[in-house]
Amino acid sequence: AKAHVVVVGGGFGGATAAKYLRLLDANIQVTLIEPKAKYITCPGSNWLFASLTSLDQLTVDYQALRDRYGVKLLVDSVTRLDAAQRRLRLASGQSVSYDRLIMSPGIDFRWDAIAGYDQATTEQFPHAWQAGPQTLLLARQLQAMPDGGLVLIAVPADPYRCPPGPYERASMMAYWLKQHKPRSKILILDAKRSFSKQTLFEAGWTKHYGYGTANSLIEWHSLADNPLLQLNKQSRVLTSEFGDQFSGDVLNIIPPQTAAQIALQNGLTDSSGWCPVRPLTGQSLFDDFIHVIGDAAHYAPIPKSAFAANSEAKACALAVTSLINQTPIPEAHWLNTCYSLIAPEHGISVAGVYKLDAANAIMPVKGAGGVSAGTDGEAAALEADYTRAVYRSLMADAFG
Ligand code: FAD
Repeated sequence: AKAHVVVVGGGFGGATAAKYLRLLDANIQVTLIEPKAKYITCPGSNWLFASLTSLDQLTVDYQALRDRYGVKLLVDSVTRLDAAQRRLRLASGQSVSYDRLIMSPGIDFRWDAIAGYDQATTEQFPHAWQAGPQTLLLARQLQAMPDGGLVLIAVPADPYRCPPGPYERASMMAYWLKQHKPRSKILILDAKRSFSKQTLFEAGWTKHYGYGTANSLIEWHSLADNPLLQLNKQSRVLTSEFGDQFSGDVLNIIPPQTAAQIALQNGLTDSSGWCPVRPLTGQSLFDDFIHVIGDAAHYAPIPKSAFAANSEAKACALAVTSLINQTPIPEAHWLNTCYSLIAPEHGISVAGVYKLDAANAIMPVKGAGGVSAGTDGEAAALEADYTRAVYRSLMADAFG
């Protein structure tokens, strides 16, 4: 019988894994289980706040995976994992057996981190950290805000999905506010002491949004020693450990995160809330037949990004086909780039190449990667074009 690999989650990690398994070995039967018939990408979703894109433009379906690569699609969600029997139970009631399982279920939120901020409250104070209705809600709130209003963005400590995402979001909101409500302000309350590409972001904010002046559209405050602990949704006040109070016209609260529920509920996570894996194969430390990739898995120091999920998926697909065919597993190299737009013609990036060291830990390859070197107009405009090009090629590689 043909080997059967089941992939759970049709995001960047899962879609890439399903496609590359079929490309690497057409004898392997691949089933992709994903509850949504269409996927809306988080990458690019910050551009919506600057009116540079729409949800439609960020939406993709799974037709190419099915028609071009012969991936079997199940529009369903996994409710239980029976690892001993290598069987999944789905919401529809159906059961699916696997020879190997690749999980790329993404993230969930720690609702216990900020008292008073729970799933229901996101309808009032969106996180917009899973693209879709939440993104539109936040955009509408921004548009409805009075000129002179305050947007508050609460940013979690590491690790979380997309380290530069909150700062790109602030940039895109500032770009829109500068044109439509220039007396407004964005206040970033950060649980960290510093952040990804900080020097480049701050240089861009200085150039475009008056950063560092009294009239700056963006202010950044570290609350590293004084975390936000509570939200009063009636008074719209966030309170920190030392009793400082913050409020705004728009509250974008990005909570701390964990691996998705399905991973948490089935014993694939450790005390960190993420799934520990053997990096070469992506095999769970708790089960040799289950591989975990993407945001849900612990691949640090590789950041949690779509680009990284795509890279982890390819290495995992190669390992899985090797294990099935009992051939040696090739050495893995992982790539990441995170591009961000500060303005439509101002892009910045960070890139990294990673491999295993002698102790089998993931290490950045010295001398490979780094951050944008030039920030003059021409270099910044070129990087803005690359930002859009990388998005398109990532989409084509994962879903096309
Ligand atoms: P996801 O893409 O979240 O996919 C997980 C899938 O699993 C979902 O479709 C979900 O429906 C499915 N699933 C969950 N549970 C189950 C279940 N029980 N059964 C079946 N299916 C299930 N990354 C970049 O590289 N570049 C960027 O520019 C960028 N910008 C970003 C901007 C923002 C605002 C945000 C929030 C993120 C950004 N990212 C970016 C990060 C990127 O979105 C994630 O790293 C990426 O989506 C991770 O892919 P994944 O496959 O791990 O998870």
